[in-house]
Amino acid sequence: MTDKPADPANLTDAEWRARLSPEQYHVLREAGTERAFTGAYESNKAPGKYVCAGCGAPLFSSADKYNSGSGWPSYTAPVAGDAVAEHRDVAHGMVRTEVRCAACEGHLGHVFPDGPGPEGLRYCINSASLDFKPKD
Ligand code: FE
Repeated sequence: MTDKPADPANLTDAEWRARLSPEQYHVLREAGTERAFTGAYESNKAPGKYVCAGCGAPLFSSADKYNSGSGWPSYTAPVAGDAVAEHRDVAHGMVRTEVRCAACEGHLGHVFPDGPGPEGLRYCINSASLDFKPKD
């Protein structure tokens, strides 16, 4: 390892493995999915922001979080339109829209067109891809 500050966009696979837990690595770097209702933030209602567990970029706010009943943290919108990047995902015999961190390209989850807000979107996000920063 070098002592240079890491640019999350340029970490090697070994560096990602060193800085993430096995579950975070599986979700963020292998596009894995945590089991429903097992994540740390699924039922978290505290005010604060959710940042990327890979690189620390702000991604979602408690203000946009709602209980979708899906078993994963659900949001009507990201904190900013350019905080996340969306990609067509045809894995597992489904056509879905994958959501990644725009800064480090870590896999976060998917966005579905059945949300309750004016945009009608449900960002279905793995807890393992997030770090919660409580508002103080
Ligand atoms: Fe990130």
